Amino acid sequence: MLGLMQDQPLAISSLIEFAARHHHDGQIVSRRVEGDIHRYTYREAAARSRQVAAALDRLGLAFSERVATLAWNGYRHFELYFGIAGSGRVVHTLNPRLAPEQLVWIANHAEDRVIAFDLSFLLLIKAVWRQCPTVKHWIALCEPGALPSDSGIDGLQSYEAWIAGQSDTYAWPVFDEKSAAILCYTSGTTGNPKGALYSHRSTLLHAWAVALPDAISLSARDSILPVVPMFHVNAWGIPFAAAMTGARLVFPGAALDGKSVYELLESERVTMAAGVPTVWLMLLNHVKQNGLKFTHMRRTLIGGSACPPAMIKSFRDDYDVTVLHGWGMTEMSPVGTVCNLKLAQLALEPDAQLAILAKQGRALFGVEMRIVGPDGRELPWDGQASGDLHVRGPWIVSGYFRGEGGDPLVDGWFPTGDVASIDADGFLQITDRSKDVIKSGGEWISSIDIENVAVAHPAVAMAACIALPHPKWGERPLLVVVKKPGAEVSRDDLLHFYTGKVAQWQVPDDVVFVETIPLGATGKMQKNKLREQFKGHRLPG
Ligand code: AMP
Repeated sequence: MLGLMQDQPLAISSLIEFAARHHHDGQIVSRRVEGDIHRYTYREAAARSRQVAAALDRLGLAFSERVATLAWNGYRHFELYFGIAGSGRVVHTLNPRLAPEQLVWIANHAEDRVIAFDLSFLLLIKAVWRQCPTVKHWIALCEPGALPSDSGIDGLQSYEAWIAGQSDTYAWPVFDEKSAAILCYTSGTTGNPKGALYSHRSTLLHAWAVALPDAISLSARDSILPVVPMFHVNAWGIPFAAAMTGARLVFPGAALDGKSVYELLESERVTMAAGVPTVWLMLLNHVKQNGLKFTHMRRTLIGGSACPPAMIKSFRDDYDVTVLHGWGMTEMSPVGTVCNLKLAQLALEPDAQLAILAKQGRALFGVEMRIVGPDGRELPWDGQASGDLHVRGPWIVSGYFRGEGGDPLVDGWFPTGDVASIDADGFLQITDRSKDVIKSGGEWISSIDIENVAVAHPAVAMAACIALPHPKWGERPLLVVVKKPGAEVSRDDLLHFYTGKVAQWQVPDDVVFVETIPLGATGKMQKNKLREQFKGHRLPG
């Protein structure tokens, strides 16, 4: 016997319509690439999203065709998300931090029909547009008056002219909730990029789960600033969760330095922000150097790479801001876990709480996890055993766009490529990417643990720990360090700093100081480049 409930497909268009109906005067604030602050409401965002949908119909785009964006976080990008997906096309977010040849490869693989881009990327578009034969329409996210007359790009038009005159009473089509909605390519360090293709259903379920109290607890009482870009895994789904809850949205545009982000947090009375550790490093430095504090911000979601415990502690003890440490990946839409304490843990001492809060947290309902050993057998959840992390659930990939890379699943589970332990309370701790783990004399050293100690040193801005080949131990750790401007620390001092913090055999064999550590397009340290750079480095002893 079937239940007697209405069978309504989950649709991304329903999110913006809900926001417009129930939070019609809820604000969306954007720092525009033009430099000024733009404000409007969910009602206006919905109307303009419908105009985008109508404009795509007018272009004659078929169901499921790809419409790409190359843009910062801002209101036009937000409208495109809903207009493209809501009308049955697929939003394909391009990452402007990729090399031009990678962008071309991805746009061709996706067979994009339209690319909408911020004018700050005009030079990039000029360099690549001829190599994207499937793209028939180029749309600059600007007023007609700002459109360069000499761009040379065939069919270039301004976004505002493109949607002007389109009806804002567009009736959203109804279709299967499993239809493709959003395409995000992974920033794989080997092989070709692979496309994770989210559906309407997976996107809504993910937004629902992310908004829950034990995830980021988003509500109509929040003002949220996603520093994490909309061109990287949909800004972790925040635009959708915000529309679902009616949270006020504050978009930072292209100004992601500590000073600009801080000013926006304060002037827009932001209660919650989200970003990768490198961004918060810049923010904390700015705040510390200038003796500032956060007047409104009470929590921040940090993920994308491991958040050092020193950062979590500083936010908590110096600024009264709770860090929600989250973990996920493009293949998981992206959020898998968020770290929030359980009731019994509220009674623990601050240091004991910190030890838990430094972990990547507990699975959202909908994400199943397991850790397996080298023999493929499942390992216990005891906080000690660490193995390959597998996940499954309704917002986790079952395969990649156009079958790239073959079937990724193992017995129905997606192997994340991360190595982790899980404790008895279900708190996940990522110890490494499997390719970054350091295998020394049959034991594993977590590069993340070693880096976390280094960045707790007051003179260290950034640290990466990589494996170097070793005749006796197989591999030994080398620490690569960027010092804070004007700060001094010697190799020996830094190595001494490890005493009592990790086992003696885990202390790096050597330290090298560098000006910069290469970061990938999504802000992660590129350890493969460092391994290449230091492959000839001779470890002492
Ligand atoms: P991406 O698909 O580019 O978002 O990268 C996903 C990968 O980033 C994961 O598989 C992890 O290796 C890493 N990652 C994300 N969040 C964290 C975190 N909180 N701690 C450690 N690694 C993380």
